[in-house]
Amino acid sequence: MRRFMLALGVWVVVAGCGHAETVFQFPEDQEEADFIANEVIATFYHELGHGLIDVLEIPVLGKEEDAADTLSVILMNDIWEEASAAAILTSDAKAYALHAGDTSAAPDLSAYADVHSLDIQRYYSVVCLFYGANPEARKQLAVDLELPDYKLDSCPYEYESARGAWDAVLQGTEPTADTYGLVMADGQEGMPLADLLAEEVASMNEHFGLPQEITVKVADCGEANAFYSPSEKTITLCNEYAQDLQQLWESQ
Ligand SMILES: [Zn+2]
Repeated sequence: MRRFMLALGVWVVVAGCGHAETVFQFPEDQEEADFIANEVIATFYHELGHGLIDVLEIPVLGKEEDAADTLSVILMNDIWEEASAAAILTSDAKAYALHAGDTSAAPDLSAYADVHSLDIQRYYSVVCLFYGANPEARKQLAVDLELPDYKLDSCPYEYESARGAWDAVLQGTEPTADTYGLVMADGQEGMPLADLLAEEVASMNEHFGLPQEITVKVADCGEANAFYSPSEKTITLCNEYAQDLQQLWESQ
């Protein structure tokens, strides 16, 4: 079980280190920095879900985006000790709530056609699954995050069902001498986002052995995004994504 400690400090980027990327610096405000770091972790788990579906050739019944959200919650639940897991989930939910904005207004029409469920649906879904994984310990969290009363009863079942599906397809993926893992792209050490992801990569490599390597990198993308590329077997977390989270937090 892991305990989250974001090491904030002064990061010095040495000139001439060979990359022209923006280097995202976590803000000094601890709450804001934790929000960004937690959401980057939750998003990384989601993108890993896409990566696992690809390299393990997992059949997807339903929306792949929902399956990836589910894996993200499972990993938060399994890997972190309770307070840190709850903090990551809360940040993840908060990001969906902030993206959803004013829920009394109808979403933009394009949101209905998106591959992702609506932000507000994703909000309730991750809160429900996280609560359902450990209802005794998480009732107050569910109440604080305004999961409707009528929803509480079905969440343990929803979690068990989703968990059973992921467990079934992840059977036999323990790392061995013959399997591959996640690797960080070269030359990113010292970049705060890359260092954060490197810890997750090390953690995931204790759990998953893969038939192919998946590379993880931080990059300038020209858009606020994080994505998995099946053709390159790469998870990319865009600097703009972290900047967008910072703006989202500061817009409250
Ligand atoms: Zn996705």
